[in-house]
Amino acid sequence: MHTTAFEVGLTPSLLLRTLEHPMSATSHKKILIVEDEQDILQLVKLYLEKEGFRTVTAMTGSEGLKQVKAENPDLIVLDLMLPEMDGLEVCKRLRSIPETALLPIIMLTAKAEESDTVIGLELGADDYVTKPFSPKALVARVKALLRRLERSSNNSASHYRYGPITLDLTRHEVSLGKQEVSLTAKEFGLLEHLLRHPGRVLTRDVLLNAIWGYDYYGTTRTVDVHIRRLKQKLPLLEEAIVSVKSLGYKLKDVTGDA
Ligand code: CA
Repeated sequence: MHTTAFEVGLTPSLLLRTLEHPMSATSHKKILIVEDEQDILQLVKLYLEKEGFRTVTAMTGSEGLKQVKAENPDLIVLDLMLPEMDGLEVCKRLRSIPETALLPIIMLTAKAEESDTVIGLELGADDYVTKPFSPKALVARVKALLRRLERSSNNSASHYRYGPITLDLTRHEVSLGKQEVSLTAKEFGLLEHLLRHPGRVLTRDVLLNAIWGYDYYGTTRTVDVHIRRLKQKLPLLEEAIVSVKSLGYKLKDVTGDA
């Protein structure tokens, strides 16, 4: 299937307006674009670079994985339909390795693949853009996601809030309103990890490594058991902690704008 520049939203006036944009605060971030359609790849690259982003590219899934290792990008724009290894598989692999488990991913999908979109989000893409798309809208989504993540990483204060729940790191206390809630060390660790990464899919392996440590020999079922106990003690989390099919858990981001 051929996709022309027009179909992905490139019009002369759009291009001009984008060229006039000043450099933004998100400059110098490195974006990896994985896309097998040369036209779209070049267009996305052009628009991101006009906004001050650095870009690296790959045209297959396995090349994309290699580029992640070699280039350590800040975010990936990942096409779903790729030859050999598709975007879902790339996403799944990145999420299951601790070093790349939290790497921001925006997936490019086609309308006809809407069920894949849902699967994509479940496998841990942070956002998705449906083809045909306007490159400008994609750039806006890239910026929004980076902003959202910057906010949560600046969030390295001594305590976290989630609705009426407060987690105080210095006092090692969790409270619901003014009522202190007694958590075990592991439950506390799980909650802290979820609060640090709202809206991100955290795999059981990643949670296990972060809280139990690499030398722990238990199974990933342990994570499920502790999540269940955490939800029992803080019923508010029953809906807020979402189970992500076959992968892990995600705390719904209540502050997100994407
Ligand atoms: Ca494709």
